[in-house]
Amino acid sequence: MSSHKLYIYNSYTRKKELFEPIHAPFVGLYVCGPTVYNDVHLGNVRTFLTFDIVFRFLKYLGYQVRYVRNITDVGHLVDDADEGEDKVEKMARLQKIEPMEVVQKYTIGFHNVMRLFKILPPSIEPSASGHIIEQIEMIEDILKNGYAYEVNGNIYFDVVKFNEKYPYGELSGRVLEELLETTRDLDGQDDKRNKADFALWKKAEKGHIMKWNSPWGEGIPGWHLECSVMSTKYLGHEFDIHGGGMDLKFPHHESEIAQNIGACGHAPVRYWMHSNMLNFNGKKMSKSEGNSILPMQMLSGNHPLLDKGYSPMTVRFLFLQSHYSSELDISIKSLHDAEIGLKKLVNAAKYLSELTWIDKGSYLDDEVNKSIDQVINDLCDDFNTAKAVASLYALTTHINTWYNDKKIVAGISKITFERLQKEFAIIIQDVFGLEEETANDNTALEAAMNLILDLRKQARADKNWALSDKIRDELKAAGIIIKDGKDGQASYELEN
Ligand code: AMP
Ligand code: ZN
Repeated sequence: MSSHKLYIYNSYTRKKELFEPIHAPFVGLYVCGPTVYNDVHLGNVRTFLTFDIVFRFLKYLGYQVRYVRNITDVGHLVDDADEGEDKVEKMARLQKIEPMEVVQKYTIGFHNVMRLFKILPPSIEPSASGHIIEQIEMIEDILKNGYAYEVNGNIYFDVVKFNEKYPYGELSGRVLEELLETTRDLDGQDDKRNKADFALWKKAEKGHIMKWNSPWGEGIPGWHLECSVMSTKYLGHEFDIHGGGMDLKFPHHESEIAQNIGACGHAPVRYWMHSNMLNFNGKKMSKSEGNSILPMQMLSGNHPLLDKGYSPMTVRFLFLQSHYSSELDISIKSLHDAEIGLKKLVNAAKYLSELTWIDKGSYLDDEVNKSIDQVINDLCDDFNTAKAVASLYALTTHINTWYNDKKIVAGISKITFERLQKEFAIIIQDVFGLEEETANDNTALEAAMNLILDLRKQARADKNWALSDKIRDELKAAGIIIKDGKDGQASYELEN
């Protein structure tokens, strides 16, 4: 285990705190995964990339990380609270397919996007629908402890009762009295004792396709419950780090905390981490706002904002250049700069392996060692990738000078040179997950093509022949031939 001290900004205490795992060298990390009812956009990618860096850097520090990232395939309602249709069920109705077909389609799409951006798979990827029994059990515990009540086949969490003993709203800075006054009165909320109560189990209304049996009749679990249940099941009653996008603080994470305490009397999480939003023209990128950029649009450049296509590694690098806690607005200038910056770092990594060391003193030893330490210190300072990139640039200046001077390394000791070679490669490849991209990068192409073929299949299923033909024709113009198989599966070939 490394001796470095890691500091994490804990959104619960609103302080940067020394990271001390409950059972070092093991670390439990839980991150809210996607709701698989639609395509993943670049905003989602930013959040998953943030926690990919957390996962990678913890491993770099020598921790054995169990990373759990769920798939929400039931329970997330259209209004992100207790009203409206289930997002997956709604999409199934619109597309006239089974909800689980929606889930399958967008889970595959999500995985393709994760691969494209070199975001590592988690250790466990549990789905809400696979944990209905455990969710029912947790509701029973909460009922037994008196923090929930049943009305008409629905079970609600009693926020007011809970707040008499435990504080509610500390994570998001909400005050219960204000919530009780300001929370909107919506249809169907008459059943609730208080406006701030939230659903643990929702009764299936007539005509619902997604539903499971429970002691309270047929229904679906509330959205917040799955994360309480799956984090407890795989990481225990108390675990180290819980992450997600800033927009999930309330009501999702606030409710998660209340549910866990309500069930077992114990706060679930030591360190809460929230990553900030990716914006588009100053507004949070979101599917419902209709201002999202899809990964394929970014790669092809086929989007009104973009002047051309940008590679997955360029986007990855662009995201790393800002700290996860800052908002990030995508612009052509920042994409251009990222393209240039990425090349600079990846080239430096390549040059390092081509340099020859000769003994010409060690007057630069201190400076180079300090710069390497600085990169690691930056990452230990709440995963500050933005600062770490800047510190790496200080090293590339030396590397470029040596490379341009007959590829001879001078001014550092052999030990320092070897350390530089090793650490630079590890930081770029293992921690930042950056790779050189070439025109024939088959892994990237394969992932991109899987995604395109998926989208085209979807277009055909929607009878959107214009889009399906456009995809085929534009790929042909780019030298990629799509072949439609008899089984409905398409494949591709590169034109010679
Ligand atoms: P969803 O599939 O909508 O549940 O979102 C999956 C994850 O993406 C959640 O952690 C969200 O907080 C995050 N997310 C959604 N929109 C954005 C955005 N514009 N920027 C960054 N993260 C986002
Ligand atoms: Zn969650």
